Amino acid sequence: MEKINGSYLEKKVEKHNGENSIKPLIIAGPCSAESPEQLLEAANSLKSGGNVDYFRAGLWKPRTSPDSFQGVGAVGLNWLREVKQETGMMVATEVGCEKHALEALKFDVDLLWIGARTVSNPFIVQEIAEALRGVDIPVLVKNPLNPDLELWLGAIARFMKQGISQVGAIHRGFSLWGRSVYRNPPIWKIQRSLQERLPGITMVCDPSHIAGKRSLLPLVSRKAMQEGANGLMIEVHPDPVNAMSDAPQQLNPKSFYNLIRDLDLHSRHASSAADPLIDELTSEIDQVDELLVHTIASRMELSRQIAMMKNSDCSGDLQPANLEKALERLHLLASDDGLRPDFVHRLFYEIQRESCNM
Ligand code: PEP
Ligand code: MN
Repeated sequence: MEKINGSYLEKKVEKHNGENSIKPLIIAGPCSAESPEQLLEAANSLKSGGNVDYFRAGLWKPRTSPDSFQGVGAVGLNWLREVKQETGMMVATEVGCEKHALEALKFDVDLLWIGARTVSNPFIVQEIAEALRGVDIPVLVKNPLNPDLELWLGAIARFMKQGISQVGAIHRGFSLWGRSVYRNPPIWKIQRSLQERLPGITMVCDPSHIAGKRSLLPLVSRKAMQEGANGLMIEVHPDPVNAMSDAPQQLNPKSFYNLIRDLDLHSRHASSAADPLIDELTSEIDQVDELLVHTIASRMELSRQIAMMKNSDCSGDLQPANLEKALERLHLLASDDGLRPDFVHRLFYEIQRESCNM
């Protein structure tokens, strides 16, 4: 095993074009364990394809609604053990409290991850970290739900402080207000900042929870590798459409193999621009543009709702005097930010005009 600044998460070094390159860590398996048969079928299909290092399955599912499937719980630990025995694969699961962690250890689970909802609670993270004190097991810490780099770093530090040497991170996107093409929009800048603050940390990206839908997975996976991730966690189910959780985002084994095959895993960090700073700024512009589109769409939706409540169209708002009054406050803000008032005027006139036509 290669030591990477305090992390012993296993890395496979292989020769590529005469140079050593580190193969990414691949974690794959269903969102949830559903039955012993489903789990074995998934594991058997992944054992020989897609370069899988760890087979994942969630047993305790932190679901938003109490009415949805909550996971099979501790009984699934027997099934994971069976997977290990039958396929020889290493297995991984999410632990959401001290009790889960202790139970998973009893059943020789090989890797634990901490879910986004759990990471947001430092008390629980501390309890889990203390439960794992002195145990040599890799722990991957997902980013918290909100884009708070310090909270993510703090959770990682809690495990490191307990002497756990194999601590890595998982970027699974953030829960942001407003509409988005993603289920949890990624923030590549935060991923990079975490890598800068903890050089050498294993950074796994979870395109499944970022994308929320199958069709976006190849794109997000490729982007993640270009942004410097050194691993991927992908949800794979033998029958994704009928999965008991996260059905729209799970891949069948064949699509998963194709995704891994089509990713040029050796061209990581490949930069379209000669200057890495330009590359970073370009990537930031892409994100700001996306946010801009979603923000404009949200604003239009609000205008539309107001028009519906007033039972009128909003053409009165386009009258020069009305628009001027509405924009007074924005003109001040804009000039503080170095924007010309006539540009702000034209921009908002167009946005308002489009809202009226909706
Ligand atoms: C999961 O990996 O199945 C999961 C619940 O993820 P997250 O914590 O990212 O929502
Ligand atoms: Mn899931």
